[in-house]
Amino acid sequence: MAQRNARELRELARSLVARHAVTDGSVFRLADHDPGDTGPFADGEREAMRDSTKELLADGVKILADMQDRLYAQDRWSLLLVFQAMDAAGKDGVIKHVMSGINPQGCEVHSFKAPSAEELDHDFMWRCSRLAPRRGMIGILNRSYYEEVLVVRVHREHLSRQQLPKELVTSAIWQERHQDIRSYERYLARQGTIIRKFFLNVSRDEQRRRFLERIDEPSKNWKFSAADVDERAHWDAYMRCYEETIRETAAGHAPWIVVPADHKWYTRLVVASAIGEAMASVDLQYPVLDAPARATLAECRARLLAE
Ligand code: ATP
Ligand code: MG
Repeated sequence: MAQRNARELRELARSLVARHAVTDGSVFRLADHDPGDTGPFADGEREAMRDSTKELLADGVKILADMQDRLYAQDRWSLLLVFQAMDAAGKDGVIKHVMSGINPQGCEVHSFKAPSAEELDHDFMWRCSRLAPRRGMIGILNRSYYEEVLVVRVHREHLSRQQLPKELVTSAIWQERHQDIRSYERYLARQGTIIRKFFLNVSRDEQRRRFLERIDEPSKNWKFSAADVDERAHWDAYMRCYEETIRETAAGHAPWIVVPADHKWYTRLVVASAIGEAMASVDLQYPVLDAPARATLAECRARLLAE
């Protein structure tokens, strides 16, 4: 496939983001989103695309690296990337690939498992909010506070471990949590945090195929846990929670990107595109020195030359 130039890449990225981003939750239906979708790439082109994604992603990653450099140097904005998905949807792989060209000093990845006793003794946002990215930084959440309206809702026993005063646990709790998440993200956005939330939308069939691969392939055994198979029994409940959560928390300043996740090459392309678009949405520039700072530079230059 012919090399694409930067302008073409940008166009492709824009069209992929437009296809999969949800900024207005009120009309969102998960049923409208096909996990096997490969976007603008028709069957004929799919094979070629899969093979050429490596180069395409490599070009995309260079662009991301350049933007991250400016983000870091400018020290005004920060970028918060939230990844949510069912098991084996490819969160780890997508984070690894898409961020491969990024300067590690400007990026932090945090993974969230079932909460510890200390975490349970705090409000639900605490363990994430204390890790919110500083200005200039990219913060990646591999699972996040969204688990509080997903796994905790599907398995109510998690809620009873949360030490909440019982009069605060009412039937409105999920609605209240959605509201709290909306307020938190609105607050972060007003503080200069660019937010993108990714739901890697894998199909139940593809998850099954990947689990079998994890069982049959010794080098992948470590990724498999028997509990993951039990969780499949709750698939429909999870999908209902995801749908409602996306409906309730998608916003212009904090869109959900519902990423088709049955084809890994396409998942990576969409995620890289959305991150690029997110950074391109603000004016990332290297700081320009004022006159006194420029004079200091000139003086230092003269001193170095005189040595
Ligand atoms: P992953 O499944 O993200 O690839 P992993 O398999 O290494 O990671 P697990 O031990 O499966 O790690 O931990 C993730 C599990 O923790 C998930 O099942 C998730 O639903 C659960 N979890 C995350 N946050 C919470 C929470 N706030 N309350 C209860 N369970 C949670
Ligand atoms: Mg797991």
